[in-house]
Amino acid sequence: FAINMNQLQLDEELGKGNYGTVKKVLHKPTNVLMAMKEIRLELDDSKLSGIIMELDILHRAVGPEIVGFYGAFFIESCVYYCMEFMDAGSLDKLNGAGVPEDVLARIAGSMVRGLKFLKDELQIIHRDVKPTNVLVNKKGEVKLCDFGVSGQLEKSLAKTNIGCQSYMAPERIKGESQNNLGTYSVSSDVWSLGLSIIEIAIGHYPYPPETYSNVFAQLTAIVHGDPPELPEEKGYSEESREWVAMCLERIPESRATYQELVDHPFLVKDVGRDVDMVGWVQTAIAHREKATAALIDSQPHSV
Ligand code: ATP
Ligand code: MG
Repeated sequence: FAINMNQLQLDEELGKGNYGTVKKVLHKPTNVLMAMKEIRLELDDSKLSGIIMELDILHRAVGPEIVGFYGAFFIESCVYYCMEFMDAGSLDKLNGAGVPEDVLARIAGSMVRGLKFLKDELQIIHRDVKPTNVLVNKKGEVKLCDFGVSGQLEKSLAKTNIGCQSYMAPERIKGESQNNLGTYSVSSDVWSLGLSIIEIAIGHYPYPPETYSNVFAQLTAIVHGDPPELPEEKGYSEESREWVAMCLERIPESRATYQELVDHPFLVKDVGRDVDMVGWVQTAIAHREKATAALIDSQPHSV
């Protein structure tokens, strides 16, 4: 069945990204809560239908580590994309109360299995692995969203976000011009995966902007500096630290493959282990709500 705007009752805003806004919506015919992403594009209608066709592959991207897709439609020059509503939000805001190693292993395992599934079953390379694109629900499930399925959509986005938080692998920062133009290899996603795991563990982006005088200095550090590590002081094991280091090899060919990451003791131990993900999500949400309330309190002029 095809979803359209008339069937949706709009609810609160869940977040804003570089390209659009995500809202919680109720799909009235089925009574299902969904997350609707609005992406503003500047192009003509013929291209829009191409995008909708390309997005159709998402109906086949069904797996335990993949955020479900319900359908997409467009109105004027906006694409509206309806997906599974993840009621605990994204991992960038869920890590403030700390992440014990068994929880980190479950998150890392879910991400690798999701990425491997996309690659092996659908020949999809994610291309935008970062904590805001890893969503969690109160059942404790961890799922990936926002992977690149539409070349046409990609081309129509204003690519201006070499922002202060780059998850791009060194070879991508150096520029595709040296490699085959436009090719993107899985190993670049492996770098972004390693960087995301460190951010989730330490609670902030691993190349903090205050350390670098400008974006250029920061990008230089990514390309030429020593890659960041999981901090031993926070109690992370040698195994987990080694796993992350295997993702953050500066030379793409030296990085681990998904199979090697799955077969590593850090993730082998996660299989079948009883991890209190539900409890961790509850604690993390409570911490996030406290932090948000404190932030609002500290702004005297807020309305
Ligand atoms: P970028 O635009 O660079 O991709 P982003 O991932 O933060 O950054 P969006 O994808 O537009 O931007 O998402 C905005 C926010 O909305 C996310 O950070 C996330 O917290 C929230 N969000 C997105 N999808 C869902 C969903 N399915 N369920 C719940 N919250 C979501
Ligand atoms: Mg996103």
